[in-house]
Amino acid sequence: MKMHIGGQWVDRSEKIEVLNPFSGSVIDTIPRASQQDVEIALKTAERGAEIMAKMTGYERYEIIHKVSEIMTERVEELAQTITLEEGKILAEATMEASRATEIIALSAEEAKRLSGEVVPLEGGPGVKGKFGFTIRIPCGIVVGISPFNFPLHLVCHKVGPALASGNAIILKPATDTPLSALKLVELFLEAGTPPEAIQCITGAGSEIGDVLCSDKLVRKITFTGSREVGEHICHTAGLKRVTMELGSNSPLIIMPDADLEKVAKAAAASGYSNAGQVCISTQRILAHEKIHGDFLDAFKEQVEDISTGNPIEASTKMGPMIREHDAIRVNQWVEEAVNEGAELIAGGERNGQIHTPTLLSNVKSEMKISSDEVFGPVVGVTSVDNIDEAIALANDTDYGLSAAIFTQNINWAMKFAREVDSGNLMVNWGTQWRADLMPYGGLKSSGIGKEGPKYAVEEMTELKMVILHLDD
Ligand code: NAP
Repeated sequence: MKMHIGGQWVDRSEKIEVLNPFSGSVIDTIPRASQQDVEIALKTAERGAEIMAKMTGYERYEIIHKVSEIMTERVEELAQTITLEEGKILAEATMEASRATEIIALSAEEAKRLSGEVVPLEGGPGVKGKFGFTIRIPCGIVVGISPFNFPLHLVCHKVGPALASGNAIILKPATDTPLSALKLVELFLEAGTPPEAIQCITGAGSEIGDVLCSDKLVRKITFTGSREVGEHICHTAGLKRVTMELGSNSPLIIMPDADLEKVAKAAAASGYSNAGQVCISTQRILAHEKIHGDFLDAFKEQVEDISTGNPIEASTKMGPMIREHDAIRVNQWVEEAVNEGAELIAGGERNGQIHTPTLLSNVKSEMKISSDEVFGPVVGVTSVDNIDEAIALANDTDYGLSAAIFTQNINWAMKFAREVDSGNLMVNWGTQWRADLMPYGGLKSSGIGKEGPKYAVEEMTELKMVILHLDD
């Protein structure tokens, strides 16, 4: 495919191949953008931002809503593209495409709701004859940088709110999975988005990222990806707004009163979908010693039931990892944990880019498999004596994106919600759950700011304060 910059579809002689992670075959190519291409995109976005800011909320709503209608008709086609470039099974890709459609529909609604509020200035001592109110205006140019693992859904969380707020957006999708984003741009253009207001630049983040993120024309960066790249962007961005949606090693606590069959099913869904390549995958299970053995038996059965293979075939429950070197890294971390005393209960094998669903017990928090983000199909179980130990271990990490507890005890549940350092807290379900309208984002090294169209719009707009100094 071509990239979309300067208000048109553009090709370049230097290309990057997009590979099918299961077969290794080339499914398409994309242009490798240069720093000059970034300059073109920035200049164009200046014009795009002016055009968008002049549109009424309803005009923006009409365009974005139309995109959601077109997407609804093309969910199957979008899902096929996701599976081909990313490697997740078709059922998960279909869910991603449907949810992406919903994000765009939610964003369209937000375009109608940009508002301010009256500030009761005369509530302050000695203030008389003043009337104050706030107004929200678009930031201007938004840069949206997305990771490989949700190539459509996470792009929609950036482009939908950015355009709803009246900004222009420059997208920089992951180089491994750029096709879904490019197809989405086609749909936005088909629905009538001004071509200067939506651009998608393809190429290596390490080559074009700094020029894009450091430019003063850019007023807002919304980034989803690894902590390392997120921190790098924060350093190069300078004084501008940033939203950082970064990684995690999410904990799940099981108390002795939990329904173990339900936990085992939820933990399997939460730990292994998309081969564990989800930022809120369950990675660390902290099981009360009274149910530890029974839980392991129930969970092992679930894990061994996850078949691997070609993600496009309906019988496959888990596909490949995105790159072979990631599968190799995960396998090395598993071996290292076993050498340090962890017990391999299931899986532990690698065949090319496929890593079998793996379950370890006797995991210690200092093992890499627990302390770092695995981002692969591995879950580690640790036995704990009580709720205090479980919460202390849950918090024994730099991350804080999602955490879960299974219990029927309201006091344990509320203690967990208050004391675990995490942006998302699940009671009686696994860590991997998200409704796209909710505020979503991490604490500590898992990030800054919130996504979810209503909340992203707040982060992509500036609040101005107006004060009328009235005559008596
Ligand atoms: P990544 O390596 O950090 O890449 C993310 C994006 O950043 C890609 O588009 C990449 O481009 C770009 N990039 C790389 N270097 C850059 C630079 N110097 N300046 C600007 N952009 C740059 O992450 P990934 O491997 O694709 O995704 C996995 C990570 O994302 C995991 O840590 C996961 O937890 C996190 N994640 C978080 C959330 C969340 O909501 N919190 C959701 C999903 C994923 P290239 O592809 O060209 O390198």
